[in-house]
Amino acid sequence: MKQQDFYTVEAVEGGHVHIFTNEDHFSRETGELLKVKLEKSGFTVPGRFSEKTRLIVCVGGDGTLLSALRKYSFPELPFVGINTGHLGFFQELHPSQLDEFIFRFKKGEYSIQPLRTVRAAVKNSGEGDTEEYLGLNEVVIKGNRSQIVHLNISIGGSFIERFSGDGVLIASAAGSTAYNYALGGSIVDPRLELLQITPMAPMNTTAYRSFTSSVLLPADISVRIEPDKGSDILMVVDGKEKRHGEAGEIILDLSPRIVRLVRFENYDFWNKVKTKLL
Ligand code: NAP
Repeated sequence: MKQQDFYTVEAVEGGHVHIFTNEDHFSRETGELLKVKLEKSGFTVPGRFSEKTRLIVCVGGDGTLLSALRKYSFPELPFVGINTGHLGFFQELHPSQLDEFIFRFKKGEYSIQPLRTVRAAVKNSGEGDTEEYLGLNEVVIKGNRSQIVHLNISIGGSFIERFSGDGVLIASAAGSTAYNYALGGSIVDPRLELLQITPMAPMNTTAYRSFTSSVLLPADISVRIEPDKGSDILMVVDGKEKRHGEAGEIILDLSPRIVRLVRFENYDFWNKVKTKLL
């Protein structure tokens, strides 16, 4: 897969644009102003997501983009973010850039940043059904209560260890700057296709041995996590909790599903790291 793929949205003139905003007053105002400007420029902004939608504009912060992805089930459409006063790592534009955005977008002067997502397939013990989850940032697997969790971790078919601690976080490259970073994980350039396993409060005593640093895995390797029998597991996918009383096993890998972010000429991941994180 190409790292930075140039991509032209078909039917730009008259194309349907969906604006998704958070509840914030300024985000709503910005969304309304953008709607007026887009309609004046020949786009259709019907106020709802449909199969005609060609672009989704998220007004808010990174959390707003994560909510839109969840709500519309990770569509293949391009997303562009307008940051209304949040951290805005995924968000590309400032609200003062609405005219510039429309001008450049109409002229096709943008690129698409493809971001790989993390997939978790959970098989509940005793039952045959498997539930699948997708995250842009990460999947966290931890104990449901404030207790140590024991996770038997295999990588690419080889059993690695029985991890003991608060849990593990499995991040995509895009998610490396989020919770993963707060836990001491590595910042990863999103052009790299990899999974990162970051331990959460790993225990290293005479009773328990657990890895203490992040582990980086290539795109084609999956991770199997088997909680000790009877463990009460809580999964958190991009900040949303999914309770799994007795998960039999959890398989995590990079999903083929890609999130496409519209980026303009000045976008530089490392500049974002410098200005937002350091
Ligand atoms: P939230 O708790 O309201 O905000 C989490 C913060 O993380 C926000 O400042 C958000 O940016 C920022 N963020 C989200 N994705 C990011 C990324 N890829 N790179 C850098 N920063 C990022 O929750 P939320 O807004 O719904 O976001 C859910 C995310 O929160 C989870 O995916 C997880 O990564 C993160 N989280 C972090 C911690 C921690 O750092 N200790 C703990 C729990 C969850 P905006 O301000 O632009 O929204």
